[in-house]
Amino acid sequence: AQRLASRKRQVDETLNSFKLSWEQLQLVKARMRAALQAGLKTDGPSEVKMLPSFVYRTPDGSEHGKYLALDLGGTNFRAMLVNFKKGLQQNTKLYHKIYKIPLEIMQGTGEELFDYLAQCVGDFLDYMGMKNTRLPAGFTFSFPCEQTALDTATLLSWTKGFKATNCEGHDVVDMLREAIKRRDFDLDIVALVNDTVGTLMSCAYEDPQCQVALIAGTGSNVCYMEEGGNGQHSDADFSKMCINTEWGGLGDDGTLDDIMTSDDTEVDQNSINPGKQRFEKLTSGMYLGEIVRRVLLNLTIRGLLFKGYVSEALKTPGIFETKYLSQIESGSNRLFSVAILIKVFIVLCGAGMAAVVDKIRENRGLDRLNITVGVDGTLYKLHPHFSRILQETTRALAPQCDVTFLPSEEGSGKGAALIAALAKHMQ
Ligand code: ADP
Repeated sequence: AQRLASRKRQVDETLNSFKLSWEQLQLVKARMRAALQAGLKTDGPSEVKMLPSFVYRTPDGSEHGKYLALDLGGTNFRAMLVNFKKGLQQNTKLYHKIYKIPLEIMQGTGEELFDYLAQCVGDFLDYMGMKNTRLPAGFTFSFPCEQTALDTATLLSWTKGFKATNCEGHDVVDMLREAIKRRDFDLDIVALVNDTVGTLMSCAYEDPQCQVALIAGTGSNVCYMEEGGNGQHSDADFSKMCINTEWGGLGDDGTLDDIMTSDDTEVDQNSINPGKQRFEKLTSGMYLGEIVRRVLLNLTIRGLLFKGYVSEALKTPGIFETKYLSQIESGSNRLFSVAILIKVFIVLCGAGMAAVVDKIRENRGLDRLNITVGVDGTLYKLHPHFSRILQETTRALAPQCDVTFLPSEEGSGKGAALIAALAKHMQ
């Protein structure tokens, strides 16, 4: 019994070493705040890129007509037809189809990837009986891009397991247009849209107070309406514009080293982009399960779990999916304090969010700010405690902001269609 108690104490000690103190969270918030500012001001590389989206406003209800939305996010490609009626939230009609992206396509050549996407679009238009209509389309492409216009965007780097060749450094709208030219239909791609920006637009369609959007799924990212004055981005002279923060890059120049544990570092080192997207690796679904697996493995090697028996399964990278953590938390038999590991992910996300909403409050010179954050992503939606802990942390760390989180109903696709509808007003 004594040995058991001692083992339990050692397990608890290890897991407790992951806990973050209030001071550490304040530090993360301050670092995110500084990185947001630095990304806006500098022309050179910065860890948080603060990419201009060329979307200057949120919807106002005047949008109407049929638009196509194409959405390449993580594991799936979605084609969607949206029919807007005038007036906010008025009988919007949606039709969509989902296509799985095979691993060999994700990691093959760029041409194969875009040919595959064009093939899916063709299939969808066939299915809708609309192959002969040249629809305006918004292309949601959720990877960091340097945009120089609403419909011009160079892929900076793949994330989330994609590594198709000959795409980085190329204009992805052009690549899709070229792939469509090789087929028997036509499309007018008017906008390239990051998924955070699409989510913001679709949530702002429901709630005009929505000025920020968060994605917590395979990846982790935020965008918000920046109100200029502060921004001097080389490519974009603006008074108000939606900025895709790419906040997942925080820490890439070492600013998070003091809060990363050895397990976090190992997961980073074994990923396909070591040293990159460090904050994302501490807040998103793609890495959470793997960090938990490593912690369990190391505890087992030390003889503290599973009687010291290291199974083949436990040694297999990627085998512990993030969804199991939701199942563990929902069940009555909670796997002791693994919850601590998940909580760290959520509170870090809250610290980042507190920095964003406080920046918006200061931009506007307000003492208090009422603001809505649109949210999408399976980690947020399906984890039983994510939304509650995120809200509590954000409110505690940004006490001058009344933050409401609004889960996105239709995802970024509807937002991309809204941007396509707004495009003629934004050139
Ligand atoms: P994407 O970001 O790929 O567009 P999602 O928002 O659906 O798509 O996120 C998928 C990610 O969500 C998966 O990589 C996984 O980490 C995580 N996930 C899947 N199911 C669950 C679940 N039940 N609970 C928590 N996280 C989950």
